[in-house]
Amino acid sequence: MIQLILKTKSPPMNHLFSADLIFSGNRPVIKNGWIECNPEGKIISINESAIPENTKILNGIIVPGFINAHCHLELSHLHGCIIEKQGMSAFIRSLFAQRFTFSEEEQLVAMQKSEDEMWRNGIVAVGDISNFENSFEVKRKSQLHYHTFVEVFGLDPRRAEEIILKAKSLSEKFSSIEKHTSSLVPHAPYSVSDWLFELLSAEYKKKVPICIHMEESIDEYQFCADKTGPFAKLFSDFGLDYSLFKVTPDSTPLQRTLPKLVASNNLLMVHNTYTNAEEIAWATSQHENFYWCLCPNANQYITNRLPNVNLFNNDQIKVTIGTDSLASNHSLNILDELKTIQQSYPEIPFDRLIKWATINGAEFLGIENVFGSISEGKTPGLVLLEGINMESLIINDSVKIRRIV
Ligand SMILES: [Zn+2]
Repeated sequence: MIQLILKTKSPPMNHLFSADLIFSGNRPVIKNGWIECNPEGKIISINESAIPENTKILNGIIVPGFINAHCHLELSHLHGCIIEKQGMSAFIRSLFAQRFTFSEEEQLVAMQKSEDEMWRNGIVAVGDISNFENSFEVKRKSQLHYHTFVEVFGLDPRRAEEIILKAKSLSEKFSSIEKHTSSLVPHAPYSVSDWLFELLSAEYKKKVPICIHMEESIDEYQFCADKTGPFAKLFSDFGLDYSLFKVTPDSTPLQRTLPKLVASNNLLMVHNTYTNAEEIAWATSQHENFYWCLCPNANQYITNRLPNVNLFNNDQIKVTIGTDSLASNHSLNILDELKTIQQSYPEIPFDRLIKWATINGAEFLGIENVFGSISEGKTPGLVLLEGINMESLIINDSVKIRRIV
């Protein structure tokens, strides 16, 4: 009798990883534990029991994939084009002088390179600012998760309606990408009229995240207080009419702006280079869902100054990390941002820095069910930090990143 042997395809094997330490993001650190994930990267289990035989043993610390809370992918082609440490208004001047001098192809190639760089650097999700639709094709094909913030500028309230209409149509385009989300956001306290803020707030109905560049330079304080200084000169040279822009001489940019934003949405203040302790306490007491984004390498690039990160060194304050764009940074690498913070602030503990780089950004973007921590059922991406001193856990230049899932 001839026996029929049916060859069945065996299901793909799950992956098992172990490392010296596992920082899952939402439970105490695990020493010599192990993680099981399926071939798609979905976490099946995270364990403290004896390590199974077929486990891949890694040297270093496993952390969840990073969240880049603030980026401008569409400025990638300006990598290395703008001279460093010249101040904010000189930066904007140089950016606008060069931004539109590249071909569409050159811009696409640069954005694709940025995407690959972010993926290799362990970034899994991005809060990305867009003024135009240039990044649409790259995002459509991306293996990263994106939320696109369509950003509006406008000092002249008479143009506000037209600006909103244009931005809405761009935001709808980005929202049409599968699993992609988008919202309208104001650029900065010094570049948006009160009426434009008012029209924007009507767009925040759904629980969308909102971000705004905040207190990035001293020029911003001056313009908001009395409409003088380098920004006034810049706007005049650009032919922008700011005669109807309302000044607030007795408020900081944050104090003047916060009442114009909607309390129920997740709010993210980006940069905070000059923000003080009093403002941090006040802002966090005003809003429940208040987040801060630090982009230290961009701050050093533009203004050669870091925020006072010690003011944020507290678990009650929700900090996220962003790279800003390659116009004002040498890399799109969250680990590089953490190294810069740690170099000036060695007292900030490792687990807090990792929280800033992972779960906080995921919560701000509303994607914490999938990203930001290593938990069963999530697909957070897994990153290995190698070369770290296991005693001090200081993130210095010897620390390297390797994406494992
Ligand atoms: Zn920015």
